[in-house]
Amino acid sequence: MTKSLELPTTVLKGVGEETAENLMAMGINNIGDLLQYLPFRYEDVRLRDLAEVSHDEKITVEGKVHSEPTVMYYGRKKNRITIHLLVERYLIKVTFFNRAYLKGQLSPQDIITVTGKWDKHRQTITGQDIKIGSQTETADFEPVYPVKSPITVKALRRFIVQAFNEYGDEIEETLPAHILKKYKLPGRKEALRVMHFPHSPDEAKQARRRFVYEEFLYFQLKMQAFRKLEREQSKGVALHYDLEKLKTFIASLPFQLTNAQKKVVNEICSDLKSPIKMNRLLQGDVGSGKTAVAAISLYACVTTGYQGALMVPTEILAEQHFQSLTSLLAETDVKIELLTSSVKGKKRKDLLERLKQGEIHILIGTHALIQHDVNFHKLGLVITDEQHRFGVEQRRILREKGERPDVLFMTATPIPRTLAITVFGEMDVSIIDEMPSGRKTIETHWAKHNMLDRILDFVEKELKKGRQAYIICPLIEESDKLDFQNAIDVYDLLSNYFHGKFKIGLMHGRLPASEKEEIMRDFSDNKIQLLVSTTVVEVGVNVPNATVMIVYDAERFGLSQLHQLRGRVGRGSEQSYCILLADPKTEVGKERMRIMTETNDGFVLSERDLELRGPGDFFGKKQSGLPEFKVADMVHDYRALETARNDAIKLIELKEFWSSDEYAPMRKYLEESGALSGEKLD
Ligand code: ADP
Ligand code: MG
Repeated sequence: MTKSLELPTTVLKGVGEETAENLMAMGINNIGDLLQYLPFRYEDVRLRDLAEVSHDEKITVEGKVHSEPTVMYYGRKKNRITIHLLVERYLIKVTFFNRAYLKGQLSPQDIITVTGKWDKHRQTITGQDIKIGSQTETADFEPVYPVKSPITVKALRRFIVQAFNEYGDEIEETLPAHILKKYKLPGRKEALRVMHFPHSPDEAKQARRRFVYEEFLYFQLKMQAFRKLEREQSKGVALHYDLEKLKTFIASLPFQLTNAQKKVVNEICSDLKSPIKMNRLLQGDVGSGKTAVAAISLYACVTTGYQGALMVPTEILAEQHFQSLTSLLAETDVKIELLTSSVKGKKRKDLLERLKQGEIHILIGTHALIQHDVNFHKLGLVITDEQHRFGVEQRRILREKGERPDVLFMTATPIPRTLAITVFGEMDVSIIDEMPSGRKTIETHWAKHNMLDRILDFVEKELKKGRQAYIICPLIEESDKLDFQNAIDVYDLLSNYFHGKFKIGLMHGRLPASEKEEIMRDFSDNKIQLLVSTTVVEVGVNVPNATVMIVYDAERFGLSQLHQLRGRVGRGSEQSYCILLADPKTEVGKERMRIMTETNDGFVLSERDLELRGPGDFFGKKQSGLPEFKVADMVHDYRALETARNDAIKLIELKEFWSSDEYAPMRKYLEESGALSGEKLD
């Protein structure tokens, strides 16, 4: 950016120190920022034929003052001025409140332009804005900017006009010519002119395309530059696994891998073999068989003499994975251990010592795995399950844990592609898009709360057949105290209802870990038939005999979360059911329930969820790592995002990118953002 765009806004007429400070509060620190400050909509101020305007519509008309304006005073300091205005062949009235001073400025025959609300019945405009004189020279569409008081839209418009007139020539291009040409995008200066002073909303839309693309492209450049850097720096270890052993192991599994599992196993294995550090996101719907993929990958790693780790968000899940992996790897000589916060004292010390000596090959656990005293002998591969639940900080510690292991992030929440390439843009992505065969589709029903009796009848029938059921109650996030009250109430209700017939369990986040585990184990062993729980069981839990999932107040959950919950059933050979109890009040809420009953495809659901909730809510309240875009909208502009990503990948591989002047603004941006020094991300 040249000198003059870096000038403070005080160089403008009407901008003093105080105004400059107020502008800074809006993120406008200099002339360049001001020019780059874009409107979010336009007001149609074209002159209209009154006959076409409907009642209450906002309009702008030009007319001739017909007679001396009249002022009426009322109350203390209150007044109303009425102007009779001849607009083409109509004689109408225009009123303004508390602007009696206008009387002195207006005389019959004067031409004025007024904007306001049209009262068709009274043939009156309630005026909001008035300009004296003919306005044929001014814009038809006025930009509306987001402002912070005391800055007004009007004042900001004035500053921008002035800034554009005086400093517009300093605006520099930030995109290379071939890209502008390829996508028929206007140059930067022209695009800014159009954004601020468009002749039509359509023209502004075209200009906006440029800024959307530019914003995405710069963002993706940062991601891709970082990725490239990571790859180059991490002349990590090439893990030459024992292919024969691996084949034997895969053949020993109790099932044949699906084609999708084979595909991702191949992708992971070629990452392991390569000296470039793996940084891969594995997406697969609930039940698609990610655990088997994890087991194969870890086993491959272990055959090279390196250790593997599997990190999960909850103790229950850690224990389940420990059991699954132990059983899958039973025929091998792989030593697996479990490390959670309940492993303490001497037991923990011994375990850590054996880990350090390399006697433990695979360690499974919660984030207890990445505490500072946990040292591996030779860590080759880290897999994290349900990774979006992990904090940014945990990801960082993991990266820093010594030996730059290959990293695989697994997630069962299908992430819409647009989010995947923004939030996880620096990663490679593998997708398991196929379910093991022979699965029965889970039947999903939406019921109102007043149907609870019938539903409980149904539950009773299933339980009598020997099946088990979950009832999930929502967490009430706003209040920590209430977070399990719902579950307790429902538990009491059901305990009464099924008194003496079935064993009912209650689980929520406030229970000590040991108690949670005990309840989960009892449910797993069918000592408990009906489990009332908060969303603690959402992730990964596997009880194949459970065939009924009832979600209480289902409208409180997002689609992805409901889908996760539904995935707790349908894990065995019996027909399973998911019943959503909900009386949603909004259309969106009803729509969500309908979508759930219509599809079992997690990817379809995640796309719809994103549309309905927007990117900010998609990952929930916890850290989302979502970037904030000024102009672009990740959901609606996803095509531009894809394009920008592909272009960014190509650009950073170009020799000229790192030398030619055309790319200087991009290089400067990358340098400033820290992407070139590896500081970026996390
Ligand atoms: P995810 O972790 O992706 O939700 P899991 O790995 O827990 O899914 O697998 C769900 C169930 O499917 C498990 O009982 C597992 O043994 C079984 N499974 C995994 N892969 C296959 C396959 N290829 N064929 C049949 N069953 C499979
Ligand atoms: Mg799983």
